[in-house]
Amino acid sequence: MQQLDQQTLGNQCLHQFINNQWVPSHGQRRLAVTNPYEESVIAEVTAGDPRDVDAAVEAAAIAFEGWQTLSGAERAVYLEAFAEGLTTRREALVELSVRNNGKIRAEAEIDLDDAIGCYRYYAEQARALDARQGVAVKHDVEGYAGHCYQEPAGVVGLITPWNFPLVTSAWKVAPALAAGCTLVIKPSEVTPLPEQVMAEIALEAKLPAGVFNLLHGDGEGIGGPLTRHPRIDKISFTGSNVVGEKVMQAAACGIRGVSLELGGKSPIIVLEDANIEEAADWVMAGIYFNAGQICSATSRLLVHEAVADDLHAALAKRIDALVLGDPMDAATQMGPMTSARQRDTVLNYLDVAREEGLTVLRDGTHRTLPAQGYFVAPTLFTEVPLESRLWREEIFGPVLCSHTVADEAEAVRLANDSDYGLVGTVVSGDAKRARAVCRRLRTGVTWYNSEQIPLVQASWGGFKRSGIGRELGPWGLAGYLEVKHIIGPVLD
Ligand code: NAD
Repeated sequence: MQQLDQQTLGNQCLHQFINNQWVPSHGQRRLAVTNPYEESVIAEVTAGDPRDVDAAVEAAAIAFEGWQTLSGAERAVYLEAFAEGLTTRREALVELSVRNNGKIRAEAEIDLDDAIGCYRYYAEQARALDARQGVAVKHDVEGYAGHCYQEPAGVVGLITPWNFPLVTSAWKVAPALAAGCTLVIKPSEVTPLPEQVMAEIALEAKLPAGVFNLLHGDGEGIGGPLTRHPRIDKISFTGSNVVGEKVMQAAACGIRGVSLELGGKSPIIVLEDANIEEAADWVMAGIYFNAGQICSATSRLLVHEAVADDLHAALAKRIDALVLGDPMDAATQMGPMTSARQRDTVLNYLDVAREEGLTVLRDGTHRTLPAQGYFVAPTLFTEVPLESRLWREEIFGPVLCSHTVADEAEAVRLANDSDYGLVGTVVSGDAKRARAVCRRLRTGVTWYNSEQIPLVQASWGGFKRSGIGRELGPWGLAGYLEVKHIIGPVLD
């Protein structure tokens, strides 16, 4: 097993990975990278500089000329190497995610497996792409032939958030490389360490120089300049709606493609015929996984009035049993918030809840929090009014809001009464009924009688304000492809 040298990682955070070399950033500003459990600084990252963006985009543009001529099968070899590189670094990467994100080990392992699976899947997709090149078009113009090709979108800029660093980057890097794009990726400055390892793997895999470039920095130093760079053909962004709007505005200048994976305020519906113990488990997993820092958190519980009391009691019991503590400890079930800033954001919402007079079933007054770490207690509000800010806005923390409904129709109506439309879950004793209700939700992914399982072969992305475009599956690859037809007289 290859161990990562933390000291080296820390130093490289002050450098940028451009054209297969670690070069110092032009920027002088530095940002601290923290361990949210120990509340200690574990590295410093450069805040970046627009001149770093110029250099990285130029390298990617030059590399595109060669990279786009490779067959999908040739590109697949590198994608397999990324999967392999992550696999051989398993222990070190899990530890890094725990230290940098405050994730519990089990969740860090799920993230890593997801990322590895994604690189493997898009290796397959890259191979399959070869067979889709030059497919004849069926038409009715005599003497003419038309053929369809799928070509890379060009040089792409990829921007990722801090909640699932390895996953959100894999969901972009893998399809972009499979399609034949070259890229510049900017990880979140809050969790730059896991993604930085991808650059090490690119070197080890002998990926041609300039195909994969990684820039550390914040929105001001790197993110904004990358989205505005005229040589970038497409931007793929995962993050908040506030920044997503800026990204879309930047992409509008010069008319560049944009795909956005944004926030959510997703519903979980529990119908009157549900098995309450199972429903409680799925509700818990939907909101307290990763301490609630999930875009797909099912943070709005719509529960039928006939089972509301039983479900709330089952949830309170589970919340009381949740073990908060050192994310390195195998017994821990929920770690701290990833940053002090995110903890404060969530605490502000809890102040709003007090001002609004919400009914609290569980919060920080019901338990003692660990003495160190950016913790927020798992919180459950019941009978939350539909106009409450906590019902409407993404909180991005372990805060569940419950609202009682009289019937299925009301549940569906209120589930869809949101600006967002990322995911949803429906729980019923009758699986057919649950699946039928899923069809009526305006959400990109909907589960029934299940915890949240993203499938790499299915799509990921939202309706309404949750984003534009889809990641994963063939749709994820299509996001990095241009469709081209060649038409002319039939050749001998
Ligand atoms: P954020 O929007 O603050 O930051 C995301 C990224 O954008 C970071 O790398 C940041 O440095 C960069 N950035 C900041 N300002 C920028 C600018 N002006 N131009 C370009 N880039 C800029 O989001 P966050 O706090 O890192 O992540 C949390 C958000 O991400 C939540 O809203 C969550 O729902 C969303 N998210 C969505 C999905 C999804 O699949 N839909 C997945 C994960 C997270």
